[in-house]
Amino acid sequence: MTKTRKIVLSEKEMPRQWYNLAADIKVPPFMSPDGAVPPEAWAPVFPMNIVEQEYSTQRWIDIPEGILELLNRWRPSPLHRAYDLEQAIGTPARIYYKNESLSPAGSHKPNTAVAQAWYNKQFGIKRMTTETGAGQWGSALAYACSLVGLECKVYMVRISFDQKPFRKLMMQTWGANCVASPSNETQAGRAVLAKTPDTPGSLGIAISEAIEAAVTDPKGESRYSLGSVLNHVMMHQTIIGLEAKKQLEIAGEKKVNVIIGCAGGGSNFAGLAFPFVYDKMHGADIDIIPVEPTSCPTLTKGPYVYDHGDTAKMTPLVAMFSLGHSFIPAPIHAGGLRYHGMAPLVSKAAKEGLISPMALHQIECYEAGILFSKTEGIIPAPETTHAIAAVIREAKKAKEEGKEKVILFNFSGHGLMDLTGYDKFLTGQLQNYELPDSVIADNLKEIEGYPKP
Ligand SMILES: *Cc1c(COP(=O)(O)O)cnc(C)c1O
Repeated sequence: MTKTRKIVLSEKEMPRQWYNLAADIKVPPFMSPDGAVPPEAWAPVFPMNIVEQEYSTQRWIDIPEGILELLNRWRPSPLHRAYDLEQAIGTPARIYYKNESLSPAGSHKPNTAVAQAWYNKQFGIKRMTTETGAGQWGSALAYACSLVGLECKVYMVRISFDQKPFRKLMMQTWGANCVASPSNETQAGRAVLAKTPDTPGSLGIAISEAIEAAVTDPKGESRYSLGSVLNHVMMHQTIIGLEAKKQLEIAGEKKVNVIIGCAGGGSNFAGLAFPFVYDKMHGADIDIIPVEPTSCPTLTKGPYVYDHGDTAKMTPLVAMFSLGHSFIPAPIHAGGLRYHGMAPLVSKAAKEGLISPMALHQIECYEAGILFSKTEGIIPAPETTHAIAAVIREAKKAKEEGKEKVILFNFSGHGLMDLTGYDKFLTGQLQNYELPDSVIADNLKEIEGYPKP
């Protein structure tokens, strides 16, 4: 008998609702100098149908038929059993992964991109603006906008714009307009360039530019879109974990012991983990681990504070773990994991001890990426290698303890557009980098006077 390596659901079996963790965990409100930010205040930034979701505390939200119609271009995604990786480690653990690399853009990001594009279209918006780090989000939104017929403008962090020309070309192929950030097109961009003309840029700066571009559209037909962090984004991604639950059941697994995802803004981790966080809140014994780089250790070293989501302080204050809004991360190759903050819902779950964050060095992660490529075949995105390295640690631990654990992780994306990082690793040019505590302390001085969540 051949082994069952992939558990696939039919399109009919795709979940019809998203799970909203905000029904079960209370996050502190967005704050401005005038107090808590009401939904209406977001009107120039996001369409109101999305704002409504951002504030919703309803546990289950129906996925509109029009969005199911977009998602089934590539969903449901298969659940793989990583037999070859298990064998290479010699672990008694059973390792499963959700393969989100099969979407047209190559990551989990289109799950929310198509939902956001659809809601914007419904609301009568003509053009979406956004930022992108490694280029994954920009390409996901470019694809989504092309599906529903919207213009798309992307501000891409300078260092990635230079390191990853193929992501830019993907965006252009899908019809988007992509510029390097900081750019000369916005006040926020010009201000940074005046001070530091050769800056590598950061997600925080690019966010400021994209928001400015949306809210200053004289026709009022542009809105901004964020690929991670916010509650509605986490919710759109829960389709991953909801599918995984059905698939594990089909695989005959009654219990999951460990859930792992890499965490930048928190969305792919949340998408897989939140339905299981619900189980944990109701008594299930599960270790749920978000994994971040030691060079951007938001959850493991940052404090839980109110901070801005962007460098130019255009966003309201958000209650989250943060390294400070002016944090400029080291130019590691896992571009998608270099955000200074973390999703409020992921942050609160960490604060309440429901999840257990871990930080890993990039060399261990690339080693894990190479082992995964040689065993399972798919070359992981540099971000995804952080999850894999943690999985390998857990699988080795299960081996030492002689326990038959079930480990589930999110394979958030493939690395075929990120081979420069593998080149650096294979030619011995990569170093480990741990963010010094003194840098964190310096960054946090700026937010000392802010309210506390
Ligand atoms: C963007 C990205 C991430 C990090 O973003 P999250 O919001 O934390 O998921 C991780 N993996 C891949 C492949 C990405 O593209």
